[in-house]
Amino acid sequence: MLDSQKIYSYLKANDWIPADKVPDADLLIISTCAFGEYEDRCCVELIRHYTDQKKGSAKVILAGCLPVINPSLLDGMGEMFVVSPTDLDKLDGFLNVKVKFTDVAEPNRILPAEVSYKPSLKKILNVSSLLAGLRSGIGWGRDPLGKWLGGIKNFIRSVALVRSYINPFLVGARDRLFYLRISRGCLGHCTYCAKKFATGTLQSKPLDRIINEFRSGLELKEKRFFLLTEDAGCYGQDIGTTVIDLLNDLFAAGKGHDFSLIISNLNAEWFIKYYDELEESVIRNQAKVLYVHIPIQSGSGRILRLMNRPYVIGDVERCLLRLRSKVPELKLSTDIMVGFPGETQEDLNLTREFLERVRFDFADIFGYENRPNTPASRLPGRFSRQEIEERRFCLLKVQDENAKTGTVVKKVVEVSGDFIRRKA
Ligand code: SF4
Repeated sequence: MLDSQKIYSYLKANDWIPADKVPDADLLIISTCAFGEYEDRCCVELIRHYTDQKKGSAKVILAGCLPVINPSLLDGMGEMFVVSPTDLDKLDGFLNVKVKFTDVAEPNRILPAEVSYKPSLKKILNVSSLLAGLRSGIGWGRDPLGKWLGGIKNFIRSVALVRSYINPFLVGARDRLFYLRISRGCLGHCTYCAKKFATGTLQSKPLDRIINEFRSGLELKEKRFFLLTEDAGCYGQDIGTTVIDLLNDLFAAGKGHDFSLIISNLNAEWFIKYYDELEESVIRNQAKVLYVHIPIQSGSGRILRLMNRPYVIGDVERCLLRLRSKVPELKLSTDIMVGFPGETQEDLNLTREFLERVRFDFADIFGYENRPNTPASRLPGRFSRQEIEERRFCLLKVQDENAKTGTVVKKVVEVSGDFIRRKA
């Protein structure tokens, strides 16, 4: 969405004006997402819907991750100019412009009216994609009754656990956030990840540019700043600085101002590497941190190795519990993937127990999906969608319990370097 916002400003700077209706437009720009199969389907529906309506001479630009991650889905859809998230400046050559893409200021806000064409229609198309997915996922036509009963059971359980699906920090707030994109790409090579194909290796934004954007937000009296990145932890490794320098400079620049930071995608590998400095920085500035998002993915060391996530889960847990004890009010969130190929019941139990001990304030628990050309897609031991859903519900229940009983562990006593946790 932030890329779309920049494309909007770029076109405006080059004297393009928004058309009211698709058939009147000389140019269509469709920004895509390819996070999973559902997003793939939504994008394909949208592309078909709009390209069917366009006038013959109108050009089409396809941006975002889909054309990089899953290009075969676009076969037979007609001529389109494709730009990936890392080469948006190629638009200059295609549109033959006077103001170059790189000369347009980085946006920090997302204005839905500028980047979302007919959002309610988009929602309707998304629902139709969801139903198409349900139909194929539950095997309409093969044992329809049994599969439908399974689908209905899932639906009822989803409603009962709705609290555990909603990120309490972001609900209704996304359009009011002030985004600071700190980097693109990452240094990871997670075996399930196709996003990396589109976002590439790490490219950090210079520290002074981020601080200038932050200061301009403070001048505008912005209150909530979101560090946007594929991996906050590796920020700066390519330009001789670190995420700790970034945080400390942000807190120093914001001194005396009323604001809070959302630290997103601080990968566990870097969280433990920089733990001591992070703890010090967070303790000093705890009132300024809305929450820290540390994606863990699994509580099983065996699965983490298959995922190529280079950290020891025991180290992550020790650091998380220590952070809880030092800053009890700090909010923590995570991402957990279930149903990774070859995940045993024991692996799942390890993740469940990990969630029960750490008690995140929010955990995004999602099922593994095979993405094209990833090393994980060639691993044996795949699960059916229903099996993955069962595993997901098992962990959602833990998270629901955490949400009901409160996640903050009020009292932690240190004994010989280990921690004994007492429920508040
Ligand atoms: S760190 Fe994130 S973006 Fe990078 S490869 Fe792993 S999952 Fe993908």
